[in-house]
Amino acid sequence: MRKNIVAGNWKMNTTVPEGVKLAAEVSEAVKAANPKCEVVIGVPFTHLTAVKNAIDSNVLGLSAENCADHTKGAYTGEVSAAMVASTGANYVILGHSERRTYYGETVEMLDEKVKLALENGLKVIFCIGEVLEEREANKQNEVVAEQLKSVFSLSAEDFGKIVLAYEPVWAIGTGKTATSDQAEEIHAFIRGLIAEKYGKQVAEDTTILYGGSCKPSNAAELFSKPDVDGGLIGGASLKAEDFMGIVNAF
Ligand code: PEP
Repeated sequence: MRKNIVAGNWKMNTTVPEGVKLAAEVSEAVKAANPKCEVVIGVPFTHLTAVKNAIDSNVLGLSAENCADHTKGAYTGEVSAAMVASTGANYVILGHSERRTYYGETVEMLDEKVKLALENGLKVIFCIGEVLEEREANKQNEVVAEQLKSVFSLSAEDFGKIVLAYEPVWAIGTGKTATSDQAEEIHAFIRGLIAEKYGKQVAEDTTILYGGSCKPSNAAELFSKPDVDGGLIGGASLKAEDFMGIVNAF
């Protein structure tokens, strides 16, 4: 049976003390709420160790927002998957559209990052999604099918450690949410592609999150769809109350 997950993506927000405070608040709130989904927070590299020490890892998972496409060595400023894992984090977000767009992450780089993350025992939240022009040209299915090739090269066992996040780029941070029907349609399409590649059971077991201006007011409607297994939450993960409003939508 697949898991429902709500994962926060803090992006480049909060100082370490602010982040520790927010993480502790979320951890306490999750413990009290005993939610019907797994809850994860994705935080900047600088925060991982301090946040790990501030949360109850039995109720709250911890994710990095990226990792390097090399193992170690002369890559100034980079943070390896092994370094992330050594903080006690259990997830890493890879392929976010902001990294693809602003930092030129290519398919080849992502293939390496996914491989290194899995080798280091991290589960991967792998983001895919089309930009507005592609949606307007009705090319969203083609685009996500192409992006999925990065994880479709994995063995079925490794693919089982991947959580997919469908994030239409036109909905990220814009306040424009995909309708629940639009989300369901493409999530079902993605699950169909997984079934073609790995079989029906693997497809049924894969968690597919929706991301893009998800908030407490629209989460329940989105999560009510059979192929929407939770959310990757940007802006609304920066306030414990809003984030919990989404967590509690299940
Ligand atoms: C994201 O960055 O993954 C995201 C979904 O952002 P927001 O919720 O702010 O649209």
